[in-house]
Amino acid sequence: MAHLTLMMIKPDAVENGHIGNILEKVTAAGFKIKALKLTQLTQRDAESFYAVHSERPFFGELVSFMTRGPIVAALLEKENAVSDFRTLIGATNPAEAAEGTLRKLYATSMGENAVHGSDSDENAMLEAAFHFSERERF
Ligand code: GDP
Repeated sequence: MAHLTLMMIKPDAVENGHIGNILEKVTAAGFKIKALKLTQLTQRDAESFYAVHSERPFFGELVSFMTRGPIVAALLEKENAVSDFRTLIGATNPAEAAEGTLRKLYATSMGENAVHGSDSDENAMLEAAFHFSERERF
């Protein structure tokens, strides 16, 4: 269980041409790609994916950002995948993200922060099921 996490390369990073750079850094950090797709979230998808934030003031902005263009979804495998990937992406706010982290390198703001990573093993499983069927996992 503790060896999988779900990544999304968010619309800002796709628009800015960072898919290749991000996948390169993710694999160089030891993550193995178990599933991968370019897709676009509908409003309903985004509202459901981020349901935990539905009462937050930024929810509308978050849903409109996450649906405005394609994203890359990936299921990643590594020992301690969830916490190691959170370390690789850095703090939610890129201004506070450590040097060399994906958000420091590619994010532009607190909202448009380039990459999503699951925050628990339980959510990694739910988010993997959200994006990938069994036959899309390798
Ligand atoms: P994460 O786990 O680091 O992605 O952060 P959270 O779970 O707290 O928030 C989920 C996502 O909501 C973040 O990655 C941002 O894209 C967005 N978000 C969080 N805080 C803000 C905010 O203050 N303003 C806006 N516009 N978006 C935010």
